[in-house]
Amino acid sequence: MALTFERSWSDEDLERYRASVARFIETEMLPEDAAARARGHVGHAIWRRSGALGFLCADIPERYGGGGGDFRHEAVFYEEMARRGLTGMSTSVHAIVAHYFLNHGTEAQKERWLPQLARGERVGAIAMTEPGAGSDLQGVATRAERRGEHYVVNGSKTFITNGFLAGVVLVVAKTDPAQGARGTSILIVDTDDCPGFRVGRVLDKIGMKAQDTSELFFDDVRVPAANLLGGVEGQGFFQLMGDLPYERLIIGVAALAGMEGAYAATLDYVRERRAFGKPIAEFQNTRFRLAEVATQIMVGRAFIDRCVERLVAGTLDTATASMAKLWASEAQGRVLDELLQLHGGYGYMNEYLIARMYADARVQRIYGGTNEIMKEVIARSL
Ligand SMILES: Cc1cc2nc3c(=O)[nH]c(=O)nc-3n(C[C@H](O)[C@H](O)[C@H](O)COP(=O)(O)OP(=O)(O)OC[C@H]3O[C@@H](n4cnc5c(N)ncnc54)[C@H](O)[C@@H]3O)c2cc1C
Repeated sequence: MALTFERSWSDEDLERYRASVARFIETEMLPEDAAARARGHVGHAIWRRSGALGFLCADIPERYGGGGGDFRHEAVFYEEMARRGLTGMSTSVHAIVAHYFLNHGTEAQKERWLPQLARGERVGAIAMTEPGAGSDLQGVATRAERRGEHYVVNGSKTFITNGFLAGVVLVVAKTDPAQGARGTSILIVDTDDCPGFRVGRVLDKIGMKAQDTSELFFDDVRVPAANLLGGVEGQGFFQLMGDLPYERLIIGVAALAGMEGAYAATLDYVRERRAFGKPIAEFQNTRFRLAEVATQIMVGRAFIDRCVERLVAGTLDTATASMAKLWASEAQGRVLDELLQLHGGYGYMNEYLIARMYADARVQRIYGGTNEIMKEVIARSL
């Protein structure tokens, strides 16, 4: 019997949901991926279509327009994209933005923004990183100064996922620079008709070519005071910390599904490709490599599945979620390197899934907090 990687957290309903997600991705996303990679973004239409089909904000309550499910529904979407090497549409950052609203927003903010995010009418982005501040977010220099009923925002952000298509950006800014972390707040910036807001370049990356990672500039942008997330100044850092387990587990989930997709594609490849009169799948080296990869996936699945269950139960702590991000993204890098090797020269060609996955995977060790920062967080909990 062929090896399968079953999820301990799945059930019949979720597998039915997975089948409809997979159908949508196969028929509507995958055929557009090459064009999106060439263009540098996926465009708005696929976001609206995903929203119309109920695939966005799957774990947001129905009263705010969401799907009323839980993290497992979100995970299904990340997995089905990741195993096909689709990285253009960051529904994960979109979901993280929705969770900031859900967990920290005022009732009015939830009612206004969540339904638009769920419908895909607005794409969500979160802007923390600046040219001078990445891992050390206390160094954020973007300033939001209160003037009457507005904040005036000045600064620049970089590496912002979904930045080019974003309709709402959560901007991390200093409302009181003298207070350090306690002087940091999150401002909700509506990018429609927003004088002083400018999207810079869609950045030229080594992978994730369809992802509109961008620079954002704020030049005397007037943000209504009602758009302070949660309505209280100085809460930014606490709000950022609160959602870390959710954010980090997403990276772990996608890493493992990416490994599974790459493994399946490689199995097909080595059974077809011949050398020295036989399929390369028959060389002992190939079989041993694949056996090692399958073992890593199986071991990883046990840990990631446990983390998914704990997140759904509300008991996943930041250190364990950081382990999931750290371990899975490191394993993904190692595994993709091995699997690419089994493709020979074709593995280096962008028309092959394994080549795109290899380039796309590299950033998993960098964003969402670098893996060095993950080790710091884990070490602090020891
Ligand atoms: C494709 C992509 C998408 C991204 N999306 C977003 C987004 O949507 N929103 C957003 O705000 N940001 C985003 N980022 C930014 C990302 O989160 C940062 O790049 C990351 O946090 C690292 O910050 P940095 O690039 O400034 O590196 P630095 O902080 O300058 O780090 C450089 C090196 O020093 C190491 N280092 C730093 N501090 C320590 C320490 N204390 N101990 C040991 N080593 C340390 C790092 O691990 C790293 O190896 C994205 C980045 C990329 C590449």
